[in-house]
Amino acid sequence: MSVTSPPTDPYRWLDAALVTIHRAHWYRSVRTVEGLPGPVIKLEQRQVLNFASNDYLGLAGDQRLVEAAITATREFGTGSTGSRLLSGHRSLHRQLEQAIAQLKQTEDALVFSSGYLANLGTIAALVGPRDLVLSDQYNHSSLKNGAILSRATVMEYGHSDPQDLRRKLEQSRPQHRRCLILTDSVFSMDGDLCLLPSFLEIAAEFGAMLLIDEAHATGVLGANGAGCLEHFGCTGQPLIQVGTLSKALGSLGGYVAGSTALIDFLRNRAPSWIYTTALSPADTAAALAAIAVVREEPQRRQQLWQNMAALKQDLTALANAPQTKMSWKLLPSESPILCLQMPDPATALKVGQQLQQLGIFAATVRPPTVPTSRLRLTLMATHTLEHLQQLIVALEASIK
Ligand SMILES: *Cc1c(COP(=O)(O)O)cnc(C)c1O
Repeated sequence: MSVTSPPTDPYRWLDAALVTIHRAHWYRSVRTVEGLPGPVIKLEQRQVLNFASNDYLGLAGDQRLVEAAITATREFGTGSTGSRLLSGHRSLHRQLEQAIAQLKQTEDALVFSSGYLANLGTIAALVGPRDLVLSDQYNHSSLKNGAILSRATVMEYGHSDPQDLRRKLEQSRPQHRRCLILTDSVFSMDGDLCLLPSFLEIAAEFGAMLLIDEAHATGVLGANGAGCLEHFGCTGQPLIQVGTLSKALGSLGGYVAGSTALIDFLRNRAPSWIYTTALSPADTAAALAAIAVVREEPQRRQQLWQNMAALKQDLTALANAPQTKMSWKLLPSESPILCLQMPDPATALKVGQQLQQLGIFAATVRPPTVPTSRLRLTLMATHTLEHLQQLIVALEASIK
């Protein structure tokens, strides 16, 4: 076969795609942070107040976690050298799993290399082509992609809408073998909580499994920091809890907590656990140290809750101010994630840039990640009231 004109560059579409992304104000780029994580950080050579971190308890820079990671690295090395089934694991891995199970009051737990992989592997292991997945419209990307990977029939229900969920179950549950309902417990880009008690009831009624993603709730909600389940008094209910070691626990990795049978099954069937290298000794030891802090220092959680209440009050006043009343809206939240909705991506970006000039680091979240543009503020136990005041002053200045 002869080719008369040279083939077009198969990668040229990338440039055109980037132009489109820029035009829609959807372009993202990464900024460089220096020093230890905390409420005050150095961002692109400037000291700023940090409202863009998921380090809710301020543990990612805690010296106890740092020391635990260093000690484990000295003793066990930097890498885990292979998957746990093939290369063996460390007693540290099991200690961490037992500590998670104890915190969550479940029979057992399994740690994955990330929360994302925990969701992908668990969902893909639990359901297949003959099954039905019902997923909240606002669920995290890892839940949505886990559902796709499973090749089950996937239906989305309206955000936190038990009536819609029930309607879809009535219609479609009978045609499927197993059914799995998926929900964030704290919605990561909004900060509101799932209606867990209603969802547990509906799951029981329709013979469906329920998986909740406690990524933003673990260490944060509940008297002992066990998460949303504890917050709603649902500890011990039969469901599947997934979460991450990378948010309030200040490390890296993910986990699933549940019954002995569930965990034993996942060890045999979850591809993102079987075919990936075990968590590093440093990450494992740091997470274990963090769980000890969660258990021993409830005052950190209380400080975080106080910060949440204080900032929520100030933001409510700000969103009701004459200058912003029409265009800014504080989204409902019961977590350290507080979002100010803005009328469009360009405004959100502009406010974000103005804040950075005023020494505040906050995330602007835009479509396609979320349906409406917003400024996403996250709180830490280690923010002081002065920090919160400085944020409000900067927000007021950026309105003018
Ligand atoms: C962050 C997050 C994850 C992913 O956890 P990683 O450990 O960062 O991969 C999963 N689910 C939700 C809801 C999250 O917010």
